[in-house]
Order: sequence, then structure tokens, then C-alpha cells
Amino acid sequence: MSLFLGSMSHHIPGRKELTDSKAVVRLLPKKEAYIPLVAGRAAGQNSFNILVEEGEAVQVGTKLAETKSGMYVPIYSSVSGTYKGIVKRMHSTLRPQEHMVIECDGKQTSVQAFEPLDYKHATREECVDFVKNAGIVGLGGAGFPTYVKYGKPDGVECVLINAVECEPYITADYRNVMDDPTDLIIGADIMKKMADVQHVYICIKESHPDLIAKVKENLGGYQGIEVRPVPDVYPMGWERVLVREVLHREYNNLPAEAGAIVGNASSAIAIAKAFTKGEPIHEKTVTVSGNAVKNPQNVVVPVGTPVSEIMEACGGYTAETVRLIAGGPMMGRTIVNDLFVVDRATNAITVLEDVADDAIACLRCGRCSDHCPSGLQPVRIKEAVQKNDLDEMIKRGASSCIECGMCTYICPSHIDVTEHVRKAKRVIAMKKK
Ligand code: SF4
Ligand code: SF4
Repeated sequence: MSLFLGSMSHHIPGRKELTDSKAVVRLLPKKEAYIPLVAGRAAGQNSFNILVEEGEAVQVGTKLAETKSGMYVPIYSSVSGTYKGIVKRMHSTLRPQEHMVIECDGKQTSVQAFEPLDYKHATREECVDFVKNAGIVGLGGAGFPTYVKYGKPDGVECVLINAVECEPYITADYRNVMDDPTDLIIGADIMKKMADVQHVYICIKESHPDLIAKVKENLGGYQGIEVRPVPDVYPMGWERVLVREVLHREYNNLPAEAGAIVGNASSAIAIAKAFTKGEPIHEKTVTVSGNAVKNPQNVVVPVGTPVSEIMEACGGYTAETVRLIAGGPMMGRTIVNDLFVVDRATNAITVLEDVADDAIACLRCGRCSDHCPSGLQPVRIKEAVQKNDLDEMIKRGASSCIECGMCTYICPSHIDVTEHVRKAKRVIAMKKK
């Protein structure tokens, strides 16, 4: 089945002006940071070796834990202070997870987490190994270890750097690239080497001429790196759509099947900082925005900073009942309270006024099917969920849903179709287990 049956041409009002031109604000946790013991599918003490003792002093860059088996991912401290043990807290993936507690001393003293590496004089394999030991994970949402993509680049012809940021409200990547184009380009050059390719395309929405100009100005003598403007439609930032737009190819499972490795712009910057400074991912730029937060802004916070403290620093909520979303309004996850923390993959906190449920009956207009980028019939999946018909959920391909939120956005009856499809995915996944 084609994954691109929908009309795919939706420009969604971005509301990016709420934050894109404001200076980034730096914050520290007030008392404690809670570093999630989560990396891809690995979670909790069963999956990680803890490398520090309770009561031990740690600094920014101290290695706290590493996965026991499977994909290797180390976790470094984002703050200086004292390690206090492990607690369970709600995580942005909507599951309670174990977190390492660091009582902060507010000094942010640091140790060299690892030695920098001159990538120009290192082999491709040494660079990939370096990224593995630096604990670099994708910062675009999934938090998947980056080195895995570069393990066997056979058949890969190019790297696409995704600086599209198509969801409304989110401007964290925009700010990161605007403020640090040099590291973006160094990161792009390192990715080019690790993928063993001649071309890197930095994909930016054509509605951002300022960002396009900024990156072009900084390309200097780097060979094979170019800016590729892409249309400002949703969900252009989804990697399947990006590969289709830039390379005119489709694939089933991984972009490598279409000859591409796709990386996020902030991940490229993080890679550059690891190679040039020996710096692990210890802080994140997070867009705090929406129509129910007092002072929308981008904040830079250590990984493990409680969202409740970030909300307080942004002036708090402006409505009595709000919908708090970890991520953007289309693909993010609604969370019941602000007790979760910023993880390495968190790029936004969206706060929307919670409007009364005004959904009416399905009009059978077919718009959700027309606009689904995965070529699904979301309304049919919704009906299967309502009838608890597992076979029908599977037959309708619910597992292919990328949770882009388009079906809910487009529905004239205000039905949260996406939530039904998500439920179908959960039911199918549980059945498979
Ligand atoms: S969220 Fe809806 S529109 Fe988006 S892929 Fe899933 S079913 Fe299709
Ligand atoms: S868009 Fe909404 S009203 Fe139209 S078919 Fe889909 S669920 Fe029904």
C-alpha cells in the first residue's frame, strides 16, 4: 500500500511568532534533577548498570549509567550535585519510569565526559564508535541511538538533515540553528563522513528565508552540503514525507531503503559539540508555547528538569483547565499533570486551553481518509475500536499510523480520531506481545 495516498498539502497555522524571535532563557532545576533511565526500548534498573553510588558527588558530564545489553547507550549527568538514588515518576512517554535523582548544588561544575575527536583525521568507523560512546540519541522525538543508523551505510547515497519543524508552535530547532549554524554544518560534515556519502541536504521550510540565508552564509568551504528548501505543509517533517519530497522515493521500513539517512538538525548540533568539545547531551532547548501559557518562550534546561518548574518560570497557566502536551499539538502526548521531566528527546511543551468536548456524530465526509499521509481510513479504524474488533483494526492497517494528528485536525465533527487510532495501535501491540 502506498504510504502517500492522502492529499498531503495542508498548511497549518504555525503560531511560531509566539516564540521564534524571543531570546532563549536558561533555567536550572531548583532542587533536584530527575534523569530518566530510558533509552529507546531500554528502561529502568533491569536495563541499565548504575555507575555511581548513593551519596556520591557528580558533575555535569559524569557517566551515571549505561545499558546492560542490546544497543549501547550511556547516560551522563546534566547537573552537578549529589546522587540520591532512584525514584519512579511519570515519563513523557506516558509510562511511570525510573529516574536517577541528583540533588543540585547550582554550581554546574563539569568534568570532561570524554575526549574530543578530530573527525577529519579519524576513520569512519572511529567516528561511529565515538557517537556511540558519547550517548548521542536522535533529538527529533524518538530518542533512538544515533550510531545504529550509521552502522552499515551500504546503499546510502545521502544524508537529509531535518530542520523542517512542521508542527505548530515548536521553534526549538529554528532557534538552535539560528543561534548555532556553525555547529549544524560541522555536524552535517560529520554525518556525511559517518554515512560515507557525498551529499548532505539540510531541509528547511521555504517559509523560513531567514533560516535558509543563515545556513547558506555559514556553509563556507564545506563540500557536498547544501540547503534544500521544502514546502511549508504538514507533516513535511515526517521522514517518509521528507524523503519523498527530496528524493522522490518511497520505502517500507527505513529511509536507508531509499538511499538516505535522516537526522534531526539539533542532533547534528549535538554531534558537533560532542566531537569538538567532548560534550554529551546534557541540556535541551524546549519550546514552551500554546494559547494557555502566560509567557511562551524557548528555554534551555538540563535534562531532568521538572516541567512544573519550567511552567512556573514561564508565568504559569492562563486557563483553569488546560491540555498539557509533551511535544507539539499534532504529534505530542497529552499528559495529565506537569510532574514529568525534560528528557533528551523532549523538544516542546504545548499548553492549550481545554475546550469542552463539542464532538458531534461522524458526517461520513471521508476527509480523514483523504488527508491521512499513511493512506489509512481513520474513520474505519475508529469504528473498529468502538466495536472492539481486533481483526478489523489489523486489516485496516492501524499499526502504520504515524500519529501525525491530521485526522483529528481535519475532522469537521471535532472527533479525536487520532486517539482512536492510537488506541487501536496499542491493542494490536498488546496482542502481539
Ligand atoms: S494520525 Fe490519523 S491522519 Fe495521521 S497517520 Fe494516523 S490515522 Fe493517518
Ligand atoms: S473526518 Fe470526521 S466526520 Fe469526516 S469521516 Fe472522518 S471521522 Fe467522520
